Amino acid sequence: MADRLGPRVGSAGGGKAGGLKGLRGEKGARTEYVGKEDIEFTLEGEIQVMESFETMGLKEDLLRGVFAYGFEKPSAVQQRAIMPIISGRDVVAQSQSGTGKTAVFCIGVLQSVNIASNETQALVLSPTRELAEQTEKVMMALGDFMNVQCHACIGGKSIGEDIRRLDYGVHVVSGTPGRVFDMLRRRNLRTRQLKMLVIDEADEMLSKGFKDQIYDIYRYLPPHCQVVLISATMPQEVLDMTKKFMNNPVKILVKRDELTLDGIKQFFVAVEREEWKFDTLCDLYDSLIVTQAVIFCNTKRKVEWLTGKMREANFTVASMHGDMPQKERDAIMEQFRGGGARVLITTDVWGRGLDVQQVSLVICYDLPLNRELYIHRIGRSGRFGRKGVAINFVRDEDVRVLRDIEQFYSTQIDEMPMNLQL
Ligand code: ADP
Repeated sequence: MADRLGPRVGSAGGGKAGGLKGLRGEKGARTEYVGKEDIEFTLEGEIQVMESFETMGLKEDLLRGVFAYGFEKPSAVQQRAIMPIISGRDVVAQSQSGTGKTAVFCIGVLQSVNIASNETQALVLSPTRELAEQTEKVMMALGDFMNVQCHACIGGKSIGEDIRRLDYGVHVVSGTPGRVFDMLRRRNLRTRQLKMLVIDEADEMLSKGFKDQIYDIYRYLPPHCQVVLISATMPQEVLDMTKKFMNNPVKILVKRDELTLDGIKQFFVAVEREEWKFDTLCDLYDSLIVTQAVIFCNTKRKVEWLTGKMREANFTVASMHGDMPQKERDAIMEQFRGGGARVLITTDVWGRGLDVQQVSLVICYDLPLNRELYIHRIGRSGRFGRKGVAINFVRDEDVRVLRDIEQFYSTQIDEMPMNLQL
């Protein structure tokens, strides 16, 4: 069974020599190696690398919020992407999962808003309600000393409350496209003073499912509104699209063979047939509860089925998917974030952006339906340099898909050893 996936393509450490520090503040497209952080970016535009938060010229109350939140030193992407956002440039910022992209745009937004005005000045769009809420919380935490008003405008919540908050005045809105558009159309979300649009998980937001909605929102924005795109994955089609609605953007990009994190070990289990996945998962359960684990299925029905089967077999699991009432989704999120649930069975509603630092294991019970999702799913573990493990259940017919992922990202997915240590 050991070599079911055949020969490896590339190796996890390939090409990451490190040690060669790039020149500071250079112009044009180039590649930079940043020493022990082992991250290689391709930079387009003039980029200054700021090695501390103090040198970014942040407002005092914002800087205080950043330190009070526990950040001491900016991560590699924060060192590069915050300043161009603050300077008012359109920005595309890509960086591996868990490397601190949320703070990139939150600090950018907070530095740019004028607290003295109570008009909405920045709009952040996210693909899921949980992510929009998480962003709202990070924004409020970093802006804790600024008295910033931030509101999550998401489906499944009271429209009346949205209207009340927006009429009262909020500086920053973090929302999902449907509700945000609704608020724009009703003119409760006023855009006259809007300076910045941030699209988080931009490749997902500009993909088929969301593109029209984003375009509808975009039409409500003032002509010179700054646009910031953020994601761990930026397929070429998305970069090509940016020409249409961005003004000479600064781009901070990661090559795809640098996208998987060395801290996340990737394995497969050759389950051969669908029927054998369940027993394999039961065998793994003791390892799952060592810290916290997220198990991905491709459909809501499968999440429900697997949750039922696991509970029948007396395993404790939580589960969440997009058809559950929002109240229940919120309760499960809170429970899981607080560590009250250790194992979460879910769909790709959990695939992108959510940050629970204790998650150290991700299981793809089903392989994801595209390559980007693989990167996002496994990135739910290994947050901000922590160690993580990803285990993929592979049926005979999935072998090709896994090999494709392995090749595409020049990464290594080994057969799971019997004595896996988490
Ligand atoms: P990404 O959006 O890149 O996936 P997040 O923004 O969710 O990553 O950040 C991942 C984790 O790292 C979060 O828990 C966040 O609080 C933490 N983090 C971000 N920046 C820093 C920093 N400069 N210092 C310490 N922790 C940080």
